[in-house]
Amino acid sequence: MKTKEKSYKGIAVSPGIAIGKVFIFDSSEDSVVQRPISEEDLPKEIARFEDALIATRREILNIQRQISQKLDVEHAQIFNAHLMVLEDRALIEEVIKRLEKDQYNVEYVFQQVIKKYCEIFSQINDEYLKERSSDIRDVSRRVLHNLTGKKREDLVHLPEEMIVAAYDLSPSDTALMHKERVIGFVTDIGSKTSHTAIMARSLEIPAVVGLHDLSSRLKMGETIILDGNRGVVIVNPSKSTLASYKQERQKVVVFENKLAVLKDLTAKTLDGHEITLSANIEMPEDIHSVLEHGAHGVGLYRTEFFYMNRSDLPTEEEHFKAYQEVAKKVWPHDVIVRTLDLGGDKFLSHLEIPREMNPFLGWRAIRFCLERLDIFKVQLRAILRASTSRNIKLMYPMISGLDELIRANEVLKDVKGELKKEGVPFNDQVEVGAMIEIPSAALTADVLAKHVDFFSIGTNDLIQYSLAVDRVNEKIAHLYQPAHPAVLRLIQMVIEAAHEADIWVGMCGEMAGDPAMALILLGLGLDELSTSPSAVPEIKKIIRSVHFSVVQQLAREVLSLTSAQEIERKAVKLLTEIAPELIMLHQERAKRRKALKRKKTG
Ligand code: PEP
Ligand code: MG
Repeated sequence: MKTKEKSYKGIAVSPGIAIGKVFIFDSSEDSVVQRPISEEDLPKEIARFEDALIATRREILNIQRQISQKLDVEHAQIFNAHLMVLEDRALIEEVIKRLEKDQYNVEYVFQQVIKKYCEIFSQINDEYLKERSSDIRDVSRRVLHNLTGKKREDLVHLPEEMIVAAYDLSPSDTALMHKERVIGFVTDIGSKTSHTAIMARSLEIPAVVGLHDLSSRLKMGETIILDGNRGVVIVNPSKSTLASYKQERQKVVVFENKLAVLKDLTAKTLDGHEITLSANIEMPEDIHSVLEHGAHGVGLYRTEFFYMNRSDLPTEEEHFKAYQEVAKKVWPHDVIVRTLDLGGDKFLSHLEIPREMNPFLGWRAIRFCLERLDIFKVQLRAILRASTSRNIKLMYPMISGLDELIRANEVLKDVKGELKKEGVPFNDQVEVGAMIEIPSAALTADVLAKHVDFFSIGTNDLIQYSLAVDRVNEKIAHLYQPAHPAVLRLIQMVIEAAHEADIWVGMCGEMAGDPAMALILLGLGLDELSTSPSAVPEIKKIIRSVHFSVVQQLAREVLSLTSAQEIERKAVKLLTEIAPELIMLHQERAKRRKALKRKKTG
């Protein structure tokens, strides 16, 4: 009997399309027997436990070494969290105490203690801490294997190119995936911020997570389509679905090859108006993708990721090395290092920041830094020291008004004074900018412009604050409208204020990477657009296909319109005229998305 095609919707965490056979990876907990032991067995059990901890430590150090070679030191450091679990005195003492009290074999006692730990972590309402329970599970599995002597199944020896399906994947499973054989993965649980998702993106393996119980429904060897762009998995695809996905994959490849020709060209319109097209990064290793996609520099380096996934604060030296490395790699282009933007949806568990009712309106970014000068100054010192490369700029996030900006500049001046006193070299002329991402900053941009060298508009936040629409709440996602007339007016106001004050103005929010919106932004007169690295070729293509006078006219027209829909229609119309190939690709994706929705609801 022929099985029917079925599609499942999850969370897209790493883009790309993979078509292939499924490899079911059993990542479930191993069952451990419960065996009573005698008083005399206790020292032997404790010694076995210690040996297993040492062996596991050796294994993890080995994994770290492999990852440093395969990826880089930064990724390898993710496993510091695993090492910390192994060295956790409280955990080790609890195991020994229970061993002595309950007198059962050590693997059983260890598993019970770990279960308790994981339960506590998974109940905490904090994405980061929740994810830590998967680190603990990962380490404990290794310890158990070392105690029982069973060998752990791994993913490096797949018989052919396959898509891995699992209930969950640990960061170590993912990091060691052999890219040639694992062409994608799907998991039942997971989130965009998990280490596993971060690894998948870095390794450029398409991935969909959060698929509920899919791994238990799949059969080893059956064919699936993994659509990492839309977060969809299609099981037993029909001939026509397969054909259309293969066609899409082919079209994307052909189109990307065409775009690749633009790599070394500038973002210049047909009539010679040139802007800077740069890219956003989260970690130094993202530079590879920035260069590969032909971006001219880094318009936003989100440094808060540097503080995450660790239990201590980065040292001045660590900051310095990271900034220096990025600056060296993007030379002769610039890198804009944004100072710590903690809060909102980005937390550090170990800093004990109190929980807030409205974290996006709370103690975040520059507000936090101006109170925690100990943390802020370390970063400023490092940025200044790295600025001797002459291609580093510094930028403050979440500036809401003049007082804050003046205060931040004063702290910077103090830090410069300290460095001068110590005889430490830095670039005294380092350009300093402010992100304009709060309506109050946009409305007072003329005042702020007198105190900085540039602005960068952060639309991700500017849209949520001006429209009162939480940027991470999927329920009201339809109200999050970049083309809303209010948003465009604020952007126009910021550009005019900047140019009036003779400073340049860019945009590093996601809006800059939207092909239709980019036409309006170009016409409004932005001097720089900074997008995700993969969006750069498309945006460059659009800019090179249009006359500046035409987009200026478009900008004038849309500013007089009253609805986001009308504005979008106008921009898409122009996009269709100047880049029909690109619009076809986007339309096909939208069509497929609609068709999938119909199939699901029908
Ligand atoms: C923004 O708000 O547009 C921005 C670029 O910053 P982030 O997304 O990091 O808040
Ligand atoms: Mg922001």
